[in-house]
Amino acid sequence: MTRLPLLALLALASLVGCNAQQPAPAAAQASSDSLRASSWCGVLSPDAYRVLREQGTEPRFSGEFWLHEEDGVYVCMGCGAHLFDSGAKFKSNSGWPSFYAPTAAEGVGEHLDLSHGMRRMEVVCNACGGHLGHVFEDGPPPTGLRYCINSVALDFVPRDSVQLVAPASRPVD
Ligand code: FE
Repeated sequence: MTRLPLLALLALASLVGCNAQQPAPAAAQASSDSLRASSWCGVLSPDAYRVLREQGTEPRFSGEFWLHEEDGVYVCMGCGAHLFDSGAKFKSNSGWPSFYAPTAAEGVGEHLDLSHGMRRMEVVCNACGGHLGHVFEDGPPPTGLRYCINSVALDFVPRDSVQLVAPASRPVD
């Protein structure tokens, strides 16, 4: 068997994933303007990188927030942008946190996703472009929508601390 040189293996590893440790979202936000996709390896946990930057999906019933019921806001784990309010969260029994609407329509983007043999609408953070999950048309009133979001793509800020988190401003890639 031919052995690849160590440098080639390291280069390959950098292309297929990320093993960096996870800093606080505020730290990511402070430098978000200058970050490009490859730089997220130094910002996100490996699981968050796989979801946010590689369109991955966490296993259902595994995430931190699918049963979370505290009052506050959910922000992007990548950039700290305000994305969803706990007031719009509902129990979907899907195994992922579910919301009937984002906090602000302009906070998230939606793109047709034909991967894995399915036709779905992908939901992304409009501030940093990170993949969040998908939106389906089987949600409750008032919108009838179900934003099915990966817990690992989110961080939670209690209501009384919301003012300490400033929204992100513009896309990074
Ligand atoms: Fe973001």
